[in-house]
Amino acid sequence: MEGKSNKNSDTQVAVVGAGLVGSLEACMLAQRGYDVHLYEYREDIRTLEHVPGRSINLAMSVRGRTALRHIGVEDSIIAHHAIPMRARMIHRPDGSTAAIPYNKDGQCIYSVGRRFVNEVLLTKAESFPNVTCHFQHRLTAMDITTRTMTFTNPTTEETNTRTADLIIGCDGAFSAVRKEMLKRANLNYSQNYIPHGYMELCIPADKHGEFAMPPNYLHIWPRGEYMMIALPNQDKSWTVTLFMPFNIFESLTSPQILMNFFQQNYPDAIPLIGEEKLVKDFFANKGLPMISVKCSPYHVGSSCLLLGDAAHAMVPFYGQGMNCGMEDCLVFDELLTKLDYDLSLVLPAYSAKRNPDAEAIVDLAMYNYVEMRDMVNSRWFLLRKKLDNFLNLIFPRSWVPLYTMVTFSREPYHMCIKKKQRQDKVLHCTSLAVLGTAVVGGVVLTWRSGSASDWLHKTFNFVVTAGRSAVPYLDHVTLY
Ligand SMILES: Cc1cc2nc3c(=O)[nH]c(=O)nc-3n(C[C@H](O)[C@H](O)[C@H](O)COP(=O)(O)OP(=O)(O)OC[C@H]3O[C@@H](n4cnc5c(N)ncnc54)[C@H](O)[C@@H]3O)c2cc1C
Repeated sequence: MEGKSNKNSDTQVAVVGAGLVGSLEACMLAQRGYDVHLYEYREDIRTLEHVPGRSINLAMSVRGRTALRHIGVEDSIIAHHAIPMRARMIHRPDGSTAAIPYNKDGQCIYSVGRRFVNEVLLTKAESFPNVTCHFQHRLTAMDITTRTMTFTNPTTEETNTRTADLIIGCDGAFSAVRKEMLKRANLNYSQNYIPHGYMELCIPADKHGEFAMPPNYLHIWPRGEYMMIALPNQDKSWTVTLFMPFNIFESLTSPQILMNFFQQNYPDAIPLIGEEKLVKDFFANKGLPMISVKCSPYHVGSSCLLLGDAAHAMVPFYGQGMNCGMEDCLVFDELLTKLDYDLSLVLPAYSAKRNPDAEAIVDLAMYNYVEMRDMVNSRWFLLRKKLDNFLNLIFPRSWVPLYTMVTFSREPYHMCIKKKQRQDKVLHCTSLAVLGTAVVGGVVLTWRSGSASDWLHKTFNFVVTAGRSAVPYLDHVTLY
């Protein structure tokens, strides 16, 4: 590949965590000629029958795909495994449905299996002669000054110590590498648990072994405070994720109460999941927490760096956690070549470039939580979506809806927000100008016809009512 370098073979890089981001990063570093050691807490998932953990499937979009293409595995994941989702399918409480396409050009996002993607990436990493994988290596201590790591085998409790020139923490939202970095000064950190939890349920294939719902959609049941979504799997089943406040999870204490709750909120999902299975799966699981993490900078000197959830965990409502983490690897790779592999320059440059974008998508993910739960039911939201799509049709380059920028482009996340704010300002001013013209025109016309006071009264009422219903929404969209 372009820019491949052998001068890095003397530099040893330890990647801690062989999840989606760590195994991808190992491949990218291997392509650049580094001596890569990939350390993973768990056993090799390719040897396990059942892999415990969160979110069975994920929505992959342009940023993730671009990263996969960079190491030559896009086709084996997208063409041979992924299921395209071309629109949101909204399920209303009365059981009726409506499709909202993601994009006027028919672009789609893809449902991919977490385990499958992780396995492809691990196999790719192992295909490089300069990558060594170490499973059952849990990082339990680290000395950043001497670049020394202590690993513990979770089964035997044996420990061993390793060193590296550069340590990259890809060990997820509860990163042990980040914990060590936090012991030093000058690292800002914040974390935020939301009051909602999630639980994964399953809609099995129907009796003919086919999908029980139209497959090329991300199905959403928005219900104000609660929400349920479903993504298709390769075996024609659906992974259903139920999001709701923990106190609601805790209040569903018996099969009867659970069924009443579903009857009231998701009646059309009951026959799809099956009453017995719903009860069994619900009571066998529990609501899991969701955390949002921000920190800055992402590096210490030229010795330590954080990528993926370790640097910026986000709530899963923009489907961007993995996509953003994979894009981290791309951005880091781009800077390596740009700055001629000088790690003392690359690491600070990476933090400076990536931090505004990572924080922007962490915020957007929180915002989309509101959109998916509530706003897809709101007339203003749907009107704004239509208006966005219409303006995008007329000005395809300058008016791109926020979701399209985030999901179907590599526009830096913070620029997506800036552009959206500009669009909101334009809409705000235009609607005020239209309203003003209508009011002045109306006054002039009715003044002439003699019923001015009656007309003024009606117009005043109209403006106040319209303003009241529009303001909460406009406030919201102006923020983002
Ligand atoms: C319910 C849910 C749905 C989601 N849906 C989407 C989606 O649709 N699209 C999307 O883009 N993102 C989604 N995400 C986010 C996505 O799962 C994460 O952003 C992504 O997994 C981050 O990858 P990572 O490799 O950084 O971290 P992880 O996937 O957490 O991997 C970390 C790895 O490090 C290992 N590890 C941990 N500690 C240690 C240690 N001390 N020593 C050694 N190894 C260690 C772990 O075993 C693991 O293998 C979702 C998340 C959730 C919770």
